[in-house]
Amino acid sequence: MHEVSIALNIIKIAGEELEKANGKGIEKIHLSVGKLSGVVIESLRFALDVSKKDGPLFNSEINIDEVPAKMKCQSCGHEFKADDFYITCPKCNEYKLEVLTGKELIIKSLTIY
Ligand SMILES: [Zn+2]
Repeated sequence: MHEVSIALNIIKIAGEELEKANGKGIEKIHLSVGKLSGVVIESLRFALDVSKKDGPLFNSEINIDEVPAKMKCQSCGHEFKADDFYITCPKCNEYKLEVLTGKELIIKSLTIY
């Protein structure tokens, strides 16, 4: 499962940040997951819960936000919300769309103590 490798990667990054900050543990982690990132938030949450046991996120509160997808039509400039890639512009029906937000998967914040 794709989400497991993402979870392991997040745990690895969190561990590196903890080491850099010379902290004892991580109180909270806040993730932003784009609607078009291909990541299922519930699966990611489950993968994190399962994988965090011995790691730096052992006792952490995990918050995950979903970032809505926004597209911009390259032909008429119309900006709109979208749920997937395979759509056309609702105004002019063009296929040439630029993804403005929704593809990201980032660690928004880490609270280290
Ligand atoms: Zn358009």
